[in-house]
Amino acid sequence: MKVLVCISQVPDTTTKVGFTDNNTKFNTQGVQFIINPYDELALTRALEITEKQGGTVTVINVGLAETEPSIRKALAIGANDAVRINAEPMDAFFVAEQISNYAKNENFDLILTGRESIDYNGGMMAGLLGEMLQLPSVNVITAIEVENGMAKLERDIDGGRERLEVKLPMVGSAQKELTEPRIPNMRGIMAARTKPLTVVEPIGAQANTQTTSFENPPAKGACKLIDPANAADLIGLLHNEAKVI
Ligand SMILES: Cc1cc2nc3c(=O)[nH]c(=O)nc-3n(C[C@H](O)[C@H](O)[C@H](O)COP(=O)(O)OP(=O)(O)OC[C@H]3O[C@@H](n4cnc5c(N)ncnc54)[C@H](O)[C@@H]3O)c2cc1C
Repeated sequence: MKVLVCISQVPDTTTKVGFTDNNTKFNTQGVQFIINPYDELALTRALEITEKQGGTVTVINVGLAETEPSIRKALAIGANDAVRINAEPMDAFFVAEQISNYAKNENFDLILTGRESIDYNGGMMAGLLGEMLQLPSVNVITAIEVENGMAKLERDIDGGRERLEVKLPMVGSAQKELTEPRIPNMRGIMAARTKPLTVVEPIGAQANTQTTSFENPPAKGACKLIDPANAADLIGLLHNEAKVI
């Protein structure tokens, strides 16, 4: 069983978001980066599957050298090896082109991504990879078991749950309930230092989109405290200011 897990590096959720270059670029100055949380779930589930039935887990990232600490963390969590495609990830189409070009000759049985990256939130990669590799792809998977060349999947749908069976190879994207993320232990951290991390040069793909500007949401208004004895004031504010009643 050969599994490929796509890892994206995203700003820590406590990051104060700001922009540079006339609001066209995210300001990475002083930002702490982490592995996208959904990708940690995909990686952990891939490890659980290969530990049960044998196999290997490769992680792949499209990014410049500064993503290597996140890739090493994925190796410390338990991935066998890693690939970094040495390019700035310009948009989802560009990233999917790079990953599919690498994966097309590697015979992976299963390719997992996160449901979405928590920075650019495109939610596009699993679908794009499925299309580019001509493989079935299923989004927002909450459970996956692999048996006899088939994947048994579950996903939440409006008002219920869907169960599917898909013939491998396939692409899937991980949703929250898939598993609990693993935290690397000291042995894993030491082992990660010597696990193979291959750097591959990108193919000449183009980005399909260009960000013209970013904008922060409006600042939150000041909090108004109302004396519980003056319920009428609260009702007045909800009615006249917030206009919710
Ligand atoms: C320095 C920098 C500059 C960027 N500039 C732009 C820009 O100008 N315009 C723009 O649209 N986007 C830009 N991005 C974002 C980047 O292109 C996106 O991460 C990429 O397009 C994927 O789209 P998404 O994040 O919406 O993916 P989604 O489809 O939401 O991601 C789903 C999953 O795909 C996988 N994945 C996502 N990105 C990667 C990756 N790089 N390597 C491996 N797996 C991945 C992960 O498993 C992730 O959970 C930039 C990112 C960086 C770091």
